[in-house]
Amino acid sequence: MEYDFDLFVIGAGSGGVRASRMSASFGARVGIAEDMFLGGTCVNVGCVPKKLFVYGSHYSEEFSNAASYGWSVGDARFDWNKMRDNKNREIERLNTIYRGLLSDAGVTLFHNRAHLLDAHTISVGEEEVTSKNILIATGSWPMVPDVKGKEHIITSNEAFYLEDFPKKVTVVGGGYIAVEFAGIFNGFGAETTLVYRGDMFLRGFDQSLREFVKLELEKSGIDLRFNTQVQEIRSTDAKDTDSKYQITLEDGGILNADLVMYATGRRPKTNELGLEGLGIAQGENGKILVDEFYQTSVENVFAIGDVTDRMQLTPVAIEEGMCIANNLFTDNPKKTLNYANIPTAVFCQPNLGTVGLREDEACELYPDDLDIFESEFRPMKHTLTGKEEKTFMKLIVQRSSDLVLGVHMVGPDAGELIQGMAVALIAGATKSQFDATVGIHPTAAEEFVTMRSISRTA
Ligand code: NDP
Repeated sequence: MEYDFDLFVIGAGSGGVRASRMSASFGARVGIAEDMFLGGTCVNVGCVPKKLFVYGSHYSEEFSNAASYGWSVGDARFDWNKMRDNKNREIERLNTIYRGLLSDAGVTLFHNRAHLLDAHTISVGEEEVTSKNILIATGSWPMVPDVKGKEHIITSNEAFYLEDFPKKVTVVGGGYIAVEFAGIFNGFGAETTLVYRGDMFLRGFDQSLREFVKLELEKSGIDLRFNTQVQEIRSTDAKDTDSKYQITLEDGGILNADLVMYATGRRPKTNELGLEGLGIAQGENGKILVDEFYQTSVENVFAIGDVTDRMQLTPVAIEEGMCIANNLFTDNPKKTLNYANIPTAVFCQPNLGTVGLREDEACELYPDDLDIFESEFRPMKHTLTGKEEKTFMKLIVQRSSDLVLGVHMVGPDAGELIQGMAVALIAGATKSQFDATVGIHPTAAEEFVTMRSISRTA
């Protein structure tokens, strides 16, 4: 049977766009459906605008540092409308670029919602198209738990387009988005409280980093409330004040805020896709189950990115998209992504960057065979400013093999720095090779190649 397309992709986010462009470049006839914005979460309500906000919000600290370097800074004031609108313009520019990338690659774009009718037929708006293969790359959507007063809550989706900048913010959650946005609101001048249900946020990261970030966020003025949950959010009917909402915590605490943002995880976006009709297997929270080559329980239907809920990271979705194109439309050996040693950064302020094993993971795998190197210091910049901000670095080394198993950091530009460290880890670098590397002076990064004293063994 002749199909309309060789590949039909649902979702034009990071993974879907890459898979469709690459497939088209290998000669496939590709269609893609998107009913929201081109570029998906990352470009529109994620990584890109978030990073612009992180840059913007950091200026407050730079202004306060400037005097120590001889600068007289006038009355620095922040204009949210200008920040938001400039950001919006940049996102619109990127949307246009994405549209161009797809059309230049010869991919047919459907600006409509897609629904699977059978394993080869998709309805897109009023049309019906057929395809030999289907790729689901619909991403994820913020999940807000049921709480009294849920109607007053915003998520990161809305935070990017706020009409007015808040004076007092309560952020709920303890993952990437919560700590990043707490830093953004705080930096832009809002009184910021972060409420986390456990005893230490950033679960999944090395314990030393989590504790260090906690100290740094507290120093920056963010009010951290751990081991508690929101019981109720109540509108106070107060107009134009910073206590529009009253938030009651389970530990008896009461917070006032004019904005309550939840960042309590993102759920795979699978609603109304027609998965059930095809019998596509789904896991808990609706994630689409796939094998190592991203094939679902239906042979010609594949899924990548957040909708599979493996690692909700843009570069992961992009790599998976490249694998799909390679596997379906070339004679090369089948590819899959190696999920070990994937570096990541949290753009809290200062940044957290990490690659490789955490100390507890390494301990489990190689007990009594680890040397841990740690270093904590004041960044050179703050020798003049007198600020208390510190940088933290940690290397985890397997003693018997000398292999570096984990590299972790909290400090300015940790994301930039850890990217290079990830290359070293992928290449199987040993501690002796780190030691044989000459430092770049004066940088924070040189500390990674000059750590000689073992902080502890494990
Ligand atoms: P995360 O999964 O990172 O964190 C969710 C947080 O919410 C956790 O602290 C969790 O607590 C808490 N939580 C979950 N359910 C509840 C609940 N019912 N009540 C109270 N708290 C709850 O999700 P995010 O929303 O922060 O981000 C989603 C994903 O997006 C991230 O995992 C990441 O993969 C990606 N991302 C990546 C970024 C980057 O690369 N810099 C930036 C932003 C997002 P607990 O720990 O106790 O479970």
